[in-house]
Amino acid sequence: MKTERTTVNRLPERGRYDRETLYAILDEAPICTVAFVREGTPVAIPTIHARVDDQLYLHGSTASTMLSSLAAGAEACVTATILDGLVVARSVFHHSMNYRSAIVLGRARDVADDDEKRNAMRAVVEHVLAGRWAEARKPNRREIAATRIVAIPIAEASSKVRTGPPIDDEEDLALPIWAGVVPTRLTPSAPVPATKAIALPASVRNLV
Ligand SMILES: Cc1cc2nc3c(=O)[nH]c(=O)nc-3n(C[C@H](O)[C@H](O)[C@H](O)COP(=O)(O)OP(=O)(O)OC[C@H]3O[C@@H](n4cnc5c(N)ncnc54)[C@H](O)[C@@H]3O)c2cc1C
Repeated sequence: MKTERTTVNRLPERGRYDRETLYAILDEAPICTVAFVREGTPVAIPTIHARVDDQLYLHGSTASTMLSSLAAGAEACVTATILDGLVVARSVFHHSMNYRSAIVLGRARDVADDDEKRNAMRAVVEHVLAGRWAEARKPNRREIAATRIVAIPIAEASSKVRTGPPIDDEEDLALPIWAGVVPTRLTPSAPVPATKAIALPASVRNLV
């Protein structure tokens, strides 16, 4: 996965190149951003993703210009970031964030096979809300036909991870200024039902 293009140069000790770290970030991050060049202009589009083994699936409408550009061979740079904390230092200069982020470079394959499309759709649904595929009505032929799926092989990638407290300069450590880490986490709130008479399903109960 590590190539010249995916070698972390700045603070290289934070770079990780193992699949375990990369996959954990991709699997936990709810969304990614897909950057590519469209008709000479760089664009970065936020979207849902799902990983199955070493394939990163993106889905959307057959009318999506992002998906058609990727299917036509545009090179993609996919990023996903999880914010783990605000790092509050004594000096302004050393404030930072704890994070886990991933970058995958590659060219997508247009997924034509209906079974692979269905499996990718399942992976996308399960990525967003584990257990939901079994509860909801499955996509019919028309819906599968209206959905475009592309797969980016996870072959060239990197992760970068910052953990731990602020790293202040030695001479600032005795200053009477609070320093530390404020952990952050994406947490779901109380569900708002669209249909009041129906009990919360297991997927939503488990989430909240
Ligand atoms: C959290 C989240 C999850 C999403 N999940 C998906 C998904 O799984 N599949 C999917 O197809 N789409 C998803 N979207 C919508 C996606 O961001 C695009 O809007 C959509 O895919 C259309 O892409 P396109 O290339 O056809 O856009 P076009 O409409 O062709 O883009 C033209 C221009 O519109 C603007 N634009 C497009 N999208 C956005 C945006 N999101 N925010 C601000 N400006 C924008 C940009 O300037 C862009 O250059 C998601 C968006 C968000 C925020």
